Amino acid sequence: MKFLSFFLLGILPFAALSQTRPANDRPNVIIILTDDQGYADVGFNGSTEIPTPEIDRIANNGVVFTSGYVSYAVCGPSRAGLLTGRYQDRFGFSKNPLLAPKDPQMGLPLSEETMADLLKNVGYTTGVFGKWHMGAHPDLIPNKRGFDEFYGFLSGGHRYFPEEYVLQDLTEAKTQIDGYRTKLLRNTTRVEETEYLTDALSREAVDFVERHHEEPFFIYLSYNAPHTPLQATEKYLKRFSHIEDKKRRTYAAMVSAVDDGVGALLDKLEELEIDENTLVFFLSDNGGPSPHNSSDNAPLRGFKGDFYEGGIRVPFAVQWKGVIPAGIKYDHPVISLDIFSTAAAVSKATPKNSLDGVNLVPYLTGAIQDVPHEELFWRNYNNAKFAVRTADSKQITVGEKVELFDIQKDISEKVNLASEQLSRVEKLRRIVKEWESTLMDPIFMGLSEGAEYNKIHPDRFDQ
Ligand code: CA
Repeated sequence: MKFLSFFLLGILPFAALSQTRPANDRPNVIIILTDDQGYADVGFNGSTEIPTPEIDRIANNGVVFTSGYVSYAVCGPSRAGLLTGRYQDRFGFSKNPLLAPKDPQMGLPLSEETMADLLKNVGYTTGVFGKWHMGAHPDLIPNKRGFDEFYGFLSGGHRYFPEEYVLQDLTEAKTQIDGYRTKLLRNTTRVEETEYLTDALSREAVDFVERHHEEPFFIYLSYNAPHTPLQATEKYLKRFSHIEDKKRRTYAAMVSAVDDGVGALLDKLEELEIDENTLVFFLSDNGGPSPHNSSDNAPLRGFKGDFYEGGIRVPFAVQWKGVIPAGIKYDHPVISLDIFSTAAAVSKATPKNSLDGVNLVPYLTGAIQDVPHEELFWRNYNNAKFAVRTADSKQITVGEKVELFDIQKDISEKVNLASEQLSRVEKLRRIVKEWESTLMDPIFMGLSEGAEYNKIHPDRFDQ
């Protein structure tokens, strides 16, 4: 109750304050993002085949979002939403960007403020570790988008074994997939990495905390695991000798490597006694592409790329010890866009642009009993597909084709109610239409338009 009243007064509770910082300071913010992890593939969502005891610590210390969404069903647009707190179609980031190091339009437009910009402006030290995917042009790299430190790669994915990083840099790339084989970047310098990629990213995040724990910091730990290619080391594979299917076993090992990294990071926060002064979010950037990486979205229908729940509802949890409750499930729909708004509120930063998310903290403490969102929306521009989620409904439309689900009772989206509930369908169509009117057309060609892009830009990779 004490916490609650402090929140109502807009003052941070004493319990949330670091043992090593002045009493008026603001919490650190950490986002741990996995890539293409299935809804079912964390312990806190029921997985027994792939134990994730370390990731589960976040759930035990905090809140599991059972209806936690991302703003798109594939990597790039989802991450653009996460990093800006805005539906990415508001600024034309509607598709997975192509790897195009010479194209200043291919990525997150400069009109947008990133969460790193926001937090850096109010004195946070900011670091991103792993996959960027927001543009490879020199104007769009992490160090130009608010991040003090970057360790990782600019492309949409990467191989995991250092001996396969054979390209010195993107000047040697000839195709989209060559981005997976570059040496890693430390800021703008290529380095020789020797560790398995997931372990390297975890190491860098822990090291960043070690170096910056006496100042407010923001970490975006952007693992590419368990995105393809499926590659794991023996250390992790041997934990899953009971899984016969090799793909599934390797996927499980990749998730387990992330789990170890999350454990190391949480241990470091506790060791430095800053765990009560740090918000830690964990989520996947989209649902599992089960046929490709053997991920499991059960009980959700569909996969990465779909607007069925399996594409957009993800494993999602947050901890802020001493401030938000521990060990609870929160079922009202929330979205990755809320992380930006939450970060702005706790850091007392003023966002440059209008946001689509809400500060989740008062909802989780119980200070606000209302639902965070009346509606959540999705658009797939190329396919003219839309989805909307309300408290009890989920509707997906492609032109005249409509699917309506009673999502509270039918989480697996089995029964299409559209033909018998016409007025509900029309009402949701109107709401979506109104939202659509606030969006922009795409500002760049996407992954599926690579051949067309190459015709217009024959010098895409040339020096
Ligand atoms: Ca992804």
